Amino acid sequence: MSIKQNLNNIKEKLPEHVTLVAVSKTKPISDLMEAYNAGQRIFGENKIQEMAERHDEMPKDIEWHMIGHVQRNKVKYMAPFVSLIHGVESFKLLKEINKQALKNNRIIDCLLQIKIAEEDSKFGMRPEEAKNILLSQDFSALKNIKVTGVMGMATFTDNTEQIEKEFKLLKATFDTLKTLKTENCKLQTISMGMSGDYQLAIACGSTMVRVGSSIFGYRN
Ligand SMILES: *Cc1c(COP(=O)(O)O)cnc(C)c1O
Repeated sequence: MSIKQNLNNIKEKLPEHVTLVAVSKTKPISDLMEAYNAGQRIFGENKIQEMAERHDEMPKDIEWHMIGHVQRNKVKYMAPFVSLIHGVESFKLLKEINKQALKNNRIIDCLLQIKIAEEDSKFGMRPEEAKNILLSQDFSALKNIKVTGVMGMATFTDNTEQIEKEFKLLKATFDTLKTLKTENCKLQTISMGMSGDYQLAIACGSTMVRVGSSIFGYRN
């Protein structure tokens, strides 16, 4: 099946309130252009410099999402153009994003990555930590970022019950944090669900799915 067909198959299954991020990491630009020509405008990458190169080469009406782990010293390379940073997992990182956004005279939208998986390998902050950050004075001083939601990754397992439990934890965390509305914090997005589990994620409340291999095929 072509990329266009894959995209259409997925889009048919998505409710209207769910945004599709096409995860294009490691794929050649020609594949991304195929998705672009089929109407896709939101792409997710997990390496900052690669995303910056693609941004330079591709049409300018694309929204670029950073979905991977973010190294603070590389934030500057994406600050001029990134639309949404999914994997924000510390206050230090928020501060750096704020600094670089200010330099570019922008406000950058961020999602707080919440650790929902039992696996130790997964990044993210505990729900309590997220709450403490959002309530802090230091956070309210960051005028050039906006926290617009949460992101999570479930454990890599075939156990659907476990994945469901973790997705529900992210939804519950979102519901709690959503009540903390401030100038730079207005939660509306729950980024959860990938190729293997996006339908379950949507059933658990996801509003943004990050789908790679089901669109572009397997990665090496
Ligand atoms: C690679 C990746 C995805 C997409 O994974 P697929 O299984 O290919 O859909 C989603 N989210 C993150 C954070 C990723 O790194």
